[in-house]
Amino acid sequence: MTIEQIRTQIAERQTTATRLAEQSLAAISAEDGELNCFLTQSRERALEQAAKVDAIADRGDPLPPLAGVPMGIKDVLSTRGVRTTCGSRILANYVPAYDATTVVRLESAGAVIVGKTNCDEFAMGSSTENSGFGPTRNPRNRSRVPGGSSGGSAAAVAAGLCTAALGTDTGGSIRQPAAFCGIVGLLPTYGRVSRYGLAAFASSLDHVGPLTLSSRDAAHVLQALAGADPLDATCSLQPVPDYVAELDRPIRGLRIGVADFGTGLQPGVAAAVERALERLRGAGCLISRVSLPLNDAGIAVYYVLATAEASSNLARYDGGRYGVRTEAATLPEMIRQTRDAGFGAEVKRRILLGTYVLSAGYYDAYYRKAQQVRALLSRGFAAAFNDVDVILTPTTPTTAFALGQESANPVERYLADVFTVPADLAGIPALSVPCGQSEGLPVGVQFIGPPFEEARLLRLGHHFERLNAE
Ligand code: GLN
Repeated sequence: MTIEQIRTQIAERQTTATRLAEQSLAAISAEDGELNCFLTQSRERALEQAAKVDAIADRGDPLPPLAGVPMGIKDVLSTRGVRTTCGSRILANYVPAYDATTVVRLESAGAVIVGKTNCDEFAMGSSTENSGFGPTRNPRNRSRVPGGSSGGSAAAVAAGLCTAALGTDTGGSIRQPAAFCGIVGLLPTYGRVSRYGLAAFASSLDHVGPLTLSSRDAAHVLQALAGADPLDATCSLQPVPDYVAELDRPIRGLRIGVADFGTGLQPGVAAAVERALERLRGAGCLISRVSLPLNDAGIAVYYVLATAEASSNLARYDGGRYGVRTEAATLPEMIRQTRDAGFGAEVKRRILLGTYVLSAGYYDAYYRKAQQVRALLSRGFAAAFNDVDVILTPTTPTTAFALGQESANPVERYLADVFTVPADLAGIPALSVPCGQSEGLPVGVQFIGPPFEEARLLRLGHHFERLNAE
């Protein structure tokens, strides 16, 4: 059911929020064993919240926009009283004392949080195989990864275990799993959605956003999430438009820029994206070429800056205040052993890389240089948006990787983020929408827009879904 259908059915008493929550929790219990989308179910909290929604319906009062919508929350977002692991063994026992702002907003809008979803440890990865709690499988093909790092969220929505989910995107972690699982994922503008209560990976790049079955559902979730937050100084004061009302405005005449996709695209992905372009052209969009360096420079910049920031942000996990501690004779030894036992290989690799690029002799060569190239990339986008309204790319160069093939060379995996990292680096919004299949696996097309133009992207996504259905 769509978010609007759920609301209507509850309002018309065809179902109740409690029944929907029970159904979602039962589906997770019955079907999630092998998929492993959820790390924790929040049954008590879900039923309490569902009862509140049902009480509103009982009184005949107007229902809030997300009334009774069962949702999964990526386990990097803080939930009061509900275990929050960040996919890491180091937080295997951590139960936060407070809620992330996004969680508060969803519940104020009537959503019912059914559990916390699996992810790569501290959101570092592209397959959910870096989770400390086992990988998630792709419900479209269980021998494949769901993508990552928000793989549990994407797979849960694709499998119908919940209606929508929250993910986070630092270098592609909402859009790439959305593409791999055949659903919709939105990266909002930097500062559009509060990050209070998000465990920081790379603070200048981290974003929270929705994973849903349709652009219309994404518009509803974004509507609930977006807006200023006094608890997050990086959150923008920019007014929030009516995303849902904008969806039905026409797309005829919309100028879509297509950049050079470079080499290394899976042929089936290239073909699916070509078909997408043809459909958009047929619907009256004006397609042109834009020159935008969507090349490995973005990847290099991203993996310098993200690791630098991660090495600093992850210093707080020391066994001293919360999480799992490995006891030892001295304090430094306790911290060393806690971090050694608690962090997985990829997280350690990132901390080492980040420490290296920030170290005295290399700061100018790596960190400062990366900041400069980041600024150039942003300017490149700004210039391109003088000529076009939206930039179109594939979301990923290939379809979902086979499970268990985490390559011996991590750089290969990093390179697959080529189309997703630029929008994070520029802080601009991007939407991934399903656009057919390649060799039986879902393909995603990405629409990138200027700052705070989420409404334009969602509108294009909404029309594109209808063109696809024709
Ligand atoms: N795949 C990227 C990485 O491993 C993106 C992660 C993310 O967006 N959280 O860093």
